[in-house]
Amino acid sequence: MTARSRGAVIRHMEALRRQIREHNYRYYVLDASTVSDAEYDRLMAKLRELEATHPDLVTPDSPTQRVGAAPSAAFAAVVHRQAMLSLQNAFTDEDLRAWERRAQTILGAPPAGYVCELKIDGAAVSLTYEGGVLVRGATRGDGTTGEDVTANLKTIRSIPLRLRVEHPPALVEVRGEVYLPRSRLDEVNRERQARGEPLFANPRNAAAGSLRQLDPKVTASRPLDIFVYGIGHTEGLDLGTQAEALDWLRQAGLKVNPHYRAGETVDQVLACVRHWEPHHHDLDYDTDGVVIKVNRFDQQAELGATSQSPRWAIAYKFPAEQAVTRVVDITVYVGRTGALTPVAKLEPVRVSGVTVTNATLHNEDEVRRKDVRTGDWVVVQRAGEVIPEVVSVLAERRTGEEREFHMPRTCPVCGAEVVRPEGEAVTRCPNAACPAQAMERLIHFGSRDAMNIDGVGPKLIQQLWERGMVKDPADLYRLAHQDLAALERMADKSAQNALASIARSRHTTLARFLYALGIRHVGQHVAEQLARHFATLDRLMAASFEEVRDVPGIGPTIAQSVVDFFHEPRNRALVKRLLAAGITFAAQESRPAGKLEGTEFIFTGTLRRRARRQAEELVKRLGGTITGSVSSKTDYLVAGEDPGSKLERARKLGVKILTEEEFFAMVGEEMPS
Ligand code: NAD
Repeated sequence: MTARSRGAVIRHMEALRRQIREHNYRYYVLDASTVSDAEYDRLMAKLRELEATHPDLVTPDSPTQRVGAAPSAAFAAVVHRQAMLSLQNAFTDEDLRAWERRAQTILGAPPAGYVCELKIDGAAVSLTYEGGVLVRGATRGDGTTGEDVTANLKTIRSIPLRLRVEHPPALVEVRGEVYLPRSRLDEVNRERQARGEPLFANPRNAAAGSLRQLDPKVTASRPLDIFVYGIGHTEGLDLGTQAEALDWLRQAGLKVNPHYRAGETVDQVLACVRHWEPHHHDLDYDTDGVVIKVNRFDQQAELGATSQSPRWAIAYKFPAEQAVTRVVDITVYVGRTGALTPVAKLEPVRVSGVTVTNATLHNEDEVRRKDVRTGDWVVVQRAGEVIPEVVSVLAERRTGEEREFHMPRTCPVCGAEVVRPEGEAVTRCPNAACPAQAMERLIHFGSRDAMNIDGVGPKLIQQLWERGMVKDPADLYRLAHQDLAALERMADKSAQNALASIARSRHTTLARFLYALGIRHVGQHVAEQLARHFATLDRLMAASFEEVRDVPGIGPTIAQSVVDFFHEPRNRALVKRLLAAGITFAAQESRPAGKLEGTEFIFTGTLRRRARRQAEELVKRLGGTITGSVSSKTDYLVAGEDPGSKLERARKLGVKILTEEEFFAMVGEEMPS
């Protein structure tokens, strides 16, 4: 390597270290990070890679050589008897298998078994019990020395001051993670707002910030909780495995997360990871992965640790749901209801395994509240199935060149003056004939969950619309082969296929048809409810507001929207033309009234044996409905483990509460195993 390129590498490494140190300080000391974890992980991975290729350039003060940050002088220092380390990360199955291979090389055989635990995203603490009595509680600090936060930890109700064991060990350091339930973040932030304090960006910052309060009264006012997951230094406690340790901790009266599992092979471990990837959002606490630990303590000892992390454990991180990127423009999208939605056009970035180029900014007030400007660096998020959104702006990265957003006064598609009714957040184009609205309605009509017209997607619809060949959904059924074949890039065969699927869509169900009409507030589920209740289109079209409102699962807003829709002569004419085009409905399934007919359910927390979605499907199959929020119309709330705030509300409203077992007994199923 030339002297010049070596100089460049050194400068690059120094720049990375500077950035990482700054992020560490903000994250561990100020509890106010300004970059996403994924972005931080990328910087760290880059530094590690450079250090691996240039081992002579590793400095003792490099962030790769230590964990966390030095403890604050505001608290007394606590030296951990056994270091509190960080964890190595796995992002792919291959990373996990490589970790196992490394362990195998050291042990001479694959590890004898594993324990998989959820990785709770909070603040790490160590609780020291002497003779069964809590004598000290500390933060992790830099791994060797932490901060004495005993008084603060004592305010957490689930931390026992005395262990519930007959013969407590002379000494045990219990390791755990203090967290703030997700459902309580708003409450904490409301208080902070009232006091003019900056808001916590996430439950992790809130937990760490609350724990490191100088006044324990403040900590006591925060709804903190803990899960313990391990044991550090001990005297007089003889345990052989991690699974035994978790059992012992539970029996000693400490709170252990219930979702841990033992696994013999890496494949079993991977099944656990696969299970939690889509389900961890259902929990009322943040988790950022699954921690896999070699079960046997003798094997753990043999594997040992590096300066940063044990070799016997690894964190399989869930795909990043957040990433940092730049806003290149803010445009306005007109939807099928005429709503104008500001959309941030982004420099492409990978989030949760997909490339994101757009993120919704919801409405004008949201743009103002988050103060998003063209040119800004932003954190974008994609959780579950939800459309990506901008979470926050990294204001400290501004250069002064950023441009503020102004909602246009006229519709960007048809030019009509837009309206924003008093008290509403949404700005709308009032022109029902606005091409954007009409086109979006057409696209929706043909979409998979609506009339399912395969091969007639947005691009084709746009061409048909622009040529004036289709103005509303009924026109689709009048298209002839030569109309389609004349379009750009439309082969004879594709035209035939498109026509065949249009023809096929004539025979549909009432629920699909209602959903396809694009009535405001009528999603698939509501459409199904309406179809089931009224059975025929005529009956629904003739129904009064009260009759619609009384359908289980339907509230006054939806009822009004449905009644208004069928009142409008243009909509009635459209329905008539569609029926004249030959649309027919499959006879309503004459299934016997389900045993849950007319009852409304809501689920909260995690079910032990079945995915929540499956339990909800079961309710629907039996004729019941599922609701998203508790109201006086809700009949039952099924509370799984770690229920959210819905449980509290249900209690207040006197809604009947069922445990998971009671629920399965009610539907006549044994608890599935
Ligand atoms: P880590 O994510 O590497 O994991 C180690 C911690 O996991 C332990 O200290 C422990 O408290 C916790 N944990 C939770 N559940 C556990 C379980 N069941 N078993 C064992 N441990 C469990 O933590 P770290 O070393 O504090 O930080 C590194 C990570 O933090 C980075 O990967 C990054 O994502 C994030 N970070 C972000 C920024 C930022 O500015 N955004 C800055 C620094 C660190």
